[in-house]
Amino acid sequence: MANLNARRHERIDTPRGEPDSRPVSNAAARDKFRQYLIKKGLRVTNQRLAIFDAAFERKEHFTAEQLLDYARALDDSVSRATVYRTLPIMTESALLREVDIGTGEKFYHPATGESTQVAQVVCVDCDKIFEISAPFMEWYGSTVSSKLGLTPVSQRLQVSAQCDAFRRTGNCPRRG
Ligand SMILES: [Zn+2]
Repeated sequence: MANLNARRHERIDTPRGEPDSRPVSNAAARDKFRQYLIKKGLRVTNQRLAIFDAAFERKEHFTAEQLLDYARALDDSVSRATVYRTLPIMTESALLREVDIGTGEKFYHPATGESTQVAQVVCVDCDKIFEISAPFMEWYGSTVSSKLGLTPVSQRLQVSAQCDAFRRTGNCPRRG
């Protein structure tokens, strides 16, 4: 277990190249976002919708600063403050999942909606974050907790990994 954190100091820059296998209905998610804004007493502005669209266009994980760039490409009036105010709204409403891989910078990813139990495998060689459906986690968490008379509130599994292909050949197709 000690090795899991051994390479966390490595900076993860831009995760990229992740195959998109999400059966996401962006229209449904966009609708949920609008409703959530209204419920929170917030206006549905073009800037907020641009942030949503920019986030849901992404196939890879992104940071808040990257999202600012993406959203500004859609609407150049989007401000940094609006991005930083909108991100928590999107995570609270479970539209985006926040991923903390211990580098100090948070990453975001559209939530799949299919499974709430997701594990992350972080490739420290190729700056990649993989989201893996992990239904066994729910079972495991509730089993070990109930033995202690506890009910799980949240749990997460994160694996830091090295890239076999890169270590062997100095090359990896997942690198940009
Ligand atoms: Zn690799």
